[in-house]
Amino acid sequence: MSVESIVQAVYLVAAVLFVLSLAGLSRQESARRGVLLGMTGMGLALVATIALALDRSERPVGVTAGLILLVLLVGAAVGTWRARTVEMTQMPELIALLHSFVGAAAVLVGFGSYLSEPATSGADAGAGQTVHLVEVFLGVLIGAVTFTGSVVAFGKLSARLRSSPLLLLGRNWLNLAALVACAGLLWWFLVAGPAGLVPLLLMTVVALALGWHLVAAIGGGDMPVVVSMLNSYSGWAAAAAGFMLGNDLLIITGALVGSSGAILSYLMCRAMNRSFVSVILGGFGAETPAAAAGGPAEPGTYRETTALEVADRLTAARSVIVVPGYGMAVAKAQYPVADLVSRLTARGTTVRFGIHPVAGRLPGHMNVLLAEAKVPYDQVLGMDEINDDFPETDVVLVIGANDTVNPAAQDDPASPIAGMPVLEVWQAREVVVFKRSMATGYAGVQNPLFFRENTAMLFGDAKEQVELIVQAL
Ligand code: NDP
Repeated sequence: MSVESIVQAVYLVAAVLFVLSLAGLSRQESARRGVLLGMTGMGLALVATIALALDRSERPVGVTAGLILLVLLVGAAVGTWRARTVEMTQMPELIALLHSFVGAAAVLVGFGSYLSEPATSGADAGAGQTVHLVEVFLGVLIGAVTFTGSVVAFGKLSARLRSSPLLLLGRNWLNLAALVACAGLLWWFLVAGPAGLVPLLLMTVVALALGWHLVAAIGGGDMPVVVSMLNSYSGWAAAAAGFMLGNDLLIITGALVGSSGAILSYLMCRAMNRSFVSVILGGFGAETPAAAAGGPAEPGTYRETTALEVADRLTAARSVIVVPGYGMAVAKAQYPVADLVSRLTARGTTVRFGIHPVAGRLPGHMNVLLAEAKVPYDQVLGMDEINDDFPETDVVLVIGANDTVNPAAQDDPASPIAGMPVLEVWQAREVVVFKRSMATGYAGVQNPLFFRENTAMLFGDAKEQVELIVQAL
């Protein structure tokens, strides 16, 4: 049996493992198995690809092996260092940055593929060459859009760039003009023959600008869709690289990532009651005039409470719902929160978690934190499962959540988050909001929940406050 056919067989096994991995990741109980299957598949894919590269090597095998080993060592060292040092709150930025690597890789593979197999003739080229050129063009286009888009998303998620949308005049026309220019450049690229590098370079510049503008125009609460959308783009960029390199496994893997990212984007849009097209066209999450004029006005007075008082309320309560948000991740409060919940449960109180689909800064962010703190899965419910239960709940603890519990999404049609489904915590008998100040959440929108009669504010770091409550209990 040739190395080639063994590698193809290994690729098939790896592809099946990737599909099983995705299936495993769809439920918390089987997620760990899903990750292991994915790692095994990726390990097999790496070994097979290296074996193929050595088999096809035109240089002495030792030199090729040395070069591969060198890049593997550098990549593994940087990857291990980042994975060990990254904070859970920085995961979304890290993922955005990783997407940018996939985009950059697709651009480099595209140029490499074009330069090593340049077009020999112009318009009269054979079908095989035309297909290859289109693959190169699309690969570089998707890769360049993904690259700059992910860099801007990284900037916004890490607060290096402002999260409000960039509203250029006629921004949709600019995007359309960029796409039309790319179509014209494709035609030039196909007929240019050996001079095709010029249109390819021009298109790369246009695509880099397009990626930058597309993500810069999306702001505030719509960022979750951007993260999942770039996830999808990075998959398509990888699939395009697979076509250019003639690597079936890369095509399959890219298509899996691309389509699962697209499904995730659809689900995130549904969770925010937005149409996908309107999010892509951008402009949501713009600052309200009040926000632009030095911060949103406070619509009334708020009531403060203390950890001791909250402990008393919790002792008397029969049903409690905990609603975590980004602040729980910042404070790393998941461990004391899990401790508090298990103590209350042991006393016979019904305690559940209510998770908003876009809570935190990453799809599934809260579920990961709670799983890390070993909270039983059956206590963790999604927004649709728990929203009807708030009226029968004695106490709701809102721990570092803000936009996802904002009643303005329902009551104020002028709000930037109007129409977004939210957890209706205010329906409960009492609401305690854990946060450090009266600052707004990610979308920069004032939250009328804090000024309701049945709401009390518990100011301070969420972890410290929850620990004080546990002590008092
Ligand atoms: P928000 O970002 O709306 O609010 C978080 C709150 O946590 C803030 O009000 C902050 O108030 C508080 N906080 C921060 N640190 C601490 C701390 N140490 N202790 C106590 N409180 C703290 O959170 P949500 O989870 O409700 O909403 C998520 C937002 O992020 C949505 O707008 C969503 O669209 C967006 N987003 C979501 C993504 C996703 O995929 N899930 C991706 C990108 C954006 P204070 O500063 O006063 O303490």
